[in-house]
Amino acid sequence: MKLSLVVPCYNEQDNVEKFYEETVSAFLGRGFDYEFVFVNDGSRDKTLERLKKLYNEKQESNITVVSFSRNFGKEAAIYAGIKNSTGDYISLIDADLQQRPEVVLEMVDILDNEQEYDCVAAYQAERKEGKAMSGAKTMFYKVINKLSEIELRADASDFRTFTRGVADAIMEMGEYHRFSKGIFSWIGFNTKFIPYEVQERNAGESKWGFRKLMRYALEGISAFSTKPLKLSTYIGMFMSFAAIVYLVVVIIQRLFFNVAVSGYATIVALILLLGGVQLFCIGIIGSYLAKTYIQSKNRPIYIAREILKKKDK
Ligand code: UDP
Ligand code: MG
Repeated sequence: MKLSLVVPCYNEQDNVEKFYEETVSAFLGRGFDYEFVFVNDGSRDKTLERLKKLYNEKQESNITVVSFSRNFGKEAAIYAGIKNSTGDYISLIDADLQQRPEVVLEMVDILDNEQEYDCVAAYQAERKEGKAMSGAKTMFYKVINKLSEIELRADASDFRTFTRGVADAIMEMGEYHRFSKGIFSWIGFNTKFIPYEVQERNAGESKWGFRKLMRYALEGISAFSTKPLKLSTYIGMFMSFAAIVYLVVVIIQRLFFNVAVSGYATIVALILLLGGVQLFCIGIIGSYLAKTYIQSKNRPIYIAREILKKKDK
């Protein structure tokens, strides 16, 4: 059995070597073959230099380095990593040592011993983040699970290990706008969820601010659900119904109670409201159209500037 560790790296200059050392010592004496597939996602620091140093110094290890021509994002890095992996099992793990290599061993044991599982995913036993953030995340999962036909687990990360069959299925999903969590759920297979304790980041800082996460959440919804597109139909139906009811009320008032309905304020408010609703719905359609447009160009998910790989593989 051979294991491939797919490691996306973006500005991780002070982590990659430590990650390598700690993984090697955790895997010592476990008796299986493994390789590292580092993906340098257009880092602006010395990450690539450090990766090349590792590649040159550790001739005995199987190290592959894929270096992007610019920053394409973690999702693209994962895709490139899997594509360049050769193992029977594939692990996705971050370079910052927040996820311990020891947990990977646990995952490998499960895949070895429990044949019914094709994938083992780790979830954070205890979330280490603020109340507002975890509240916002819970909210997001509620919304996306309601809207789309896939089922996402709120606490699962993309720290996981899976078989070659699962990797092939992921490669089949050639979409440009990649949302891993959705992809993992969409392809199916049997996944076992195990708890793990997330560590403090070794060095550097997280690339995920609140705004970026928000964008990611909206991406996720539009990637795996088309229900927002139907929103305008529902709003339109509701508005028409309300308009008819109001019309009947006005006619009755005029005919039987002789009330002259005055209405400057009402009309202005209604025009603004309806205009707002229409623009909102057009915006939703626009965001799907934009995705279709980009996808129809069939652009590659990533562009590698350089791939370092040992020949005998
Ligand atoms: N990452 C990447 N490209 C990006 C952003 C992040 O390859 O554009 C990598 C990063 O180097 C790390 C992993 O994805 O190995 C997780 O990123 P980070 O630690 O910033 O996220 P967090 O752990 O805070 O969720
Ligand atoms: Mg991290």
